[in-house]
Amino acid sequence: MPETTITHIRYRTVYDSRGVETLEVDVITEKGFGRVAAPFGAPGSRGEFEAPAYAPGGLRESMAILEKTLIPSLIGMDAAEQEKIDDILLQVDGTPNFEKIGGNTAAILSTAVGTAAADSLKIPMFKLFRKDEEWTLPYPLGNIIGGGAHSLGPAPDMQEHLIVPIGAKTVQQAIEINLRVHDQVGKLLERKDPGFAGGTDDENAWAANLNDVEALKILEEAADRISDEEGVEIRMGLDLAADRIWDPAGKVYKYDREGASRTTQRQLDFLGELIVRFNLIYVEDGFNSNDYDSFSLLNRNFGHRCLICADDVYASNYERTKTGIGKGSAGAMIIKPNQVGTITGAKQTISLAQSHGMKIILSHRSGETPDDSIAHLAVAWNALMIKTGVKGGERLAKLNELIRIEQAFEKAHLIKW
Ligand code: PEP
Ligand code: MG
Repeated sequence: MPETTITHIRYRTVYDSRGVETLEVDVITEKGFGRVAAPFGAPGSRGEFEAPAYAPGGLRESMAILEKTLIPSLIGMDAAEQEKIDDILLQVDGTPNFEKIGGNTAAILSTAVGTAAADSLKIPMFKLFRKDEEWTLPYPLGNIIGGGAHSLGPAPDMQEHLIVPIGAKTVQQAIEINLRVHDQVGKLLERKDPGFAGGTDDENAWAANLNDVEALKILEEAADRISDEEGVEIRMGLDLAADRIWDPAGKVYKYDREGASRTTQRQLDFLGELIVRFNLIYVEDGFNSNDYDSFSLLNRNFGHRCLICADDVYASNYERTKTGIGKGSAGAMIIKPNQVGTITGAKQTISLAQSHGMKIILSHRSGETPDDSIAHLAVAWNALMIKTGVKGGERLAKLNELIRIEQAFEKAHLIKW
């Protein structure tokens, strides 16, 4: 029997970084082991078009399907044959978007199989999916000031105020710069806001009583200082997660903290102003996820200087990505394995996007686990960036793994920006 033959699969519930119950699986092969627990997006931030997390009856129903159907279908299979495994997951489910078993159920099985195959073959997981002798490492896109569905209380309306140190020479330097900017923003908030008590959001970004422009100004001040000290260019970005602020009845984007409403045209103008004023290099989900056309307008006007990125609008989904590519809606897209359900499905979407010149950002979820597989997938798939927060054990698990890869493999280097 080959060393990668699956002999056992165990499952249980554990708790994610938000303390929410989540599903974990262990895949055991003749010679290896893979364990993955599912991450989870925040209510109000999860995409309308992503695979549902679990079966229609919830986590317990997914566990029953695991026991009765999924595990018996996978025992005896070869974990090194990822595509075959993922095809079985799709067949057992019977719908294109994992509506029967759930994207989390599928994604943790798919990923744990890949992890177990790599462990059996005694190779790092990224080598399983990329046979080259040179590997590129993604820039860490760091979430510094949080808001939206990831924060409580008065906080910016936009979900993430981000930085990326595009002038860094190594992954380790880039990670350290993100940490330094995070610390510097904390100091500035302490000085400027008497009510600031050091609170952070789901992803350990600072939870600050600011509107979005105020948050960007503080971020700019901190980034400029660290950039000068380190001699490294640092650029800023945003994830608006705009579905949460979109009011479909009034057809406006509602900025409650700021006390403003913006029509789609005003939203387009506002984002353009922010891109120019703050020299933004990245804007994710600037419009609601049904509005491909506004994404296209923003991309047409600013795509040459700023990555217009699709998260909830494409939802890592092949068909939605194809539609967006046809309309020129984005220059970059987020890939979250549990939005699509399998490693093979994520890879198919990525191949389509990259063949049209789009950049890939592998992403965590706001509710995370210590699993580090997205670091390996980002390396395997030539991702430009990895979005996985700055601080917190579950976020650093991925970033620290990139440092290990950078150290262990002489021919692994930061991707060319
Ligand atoms: C995001 O919107 O990019 C994100 C990580 O949020 P969540 O996981 O809550 O959907
Ligand atoms: Mg997003």
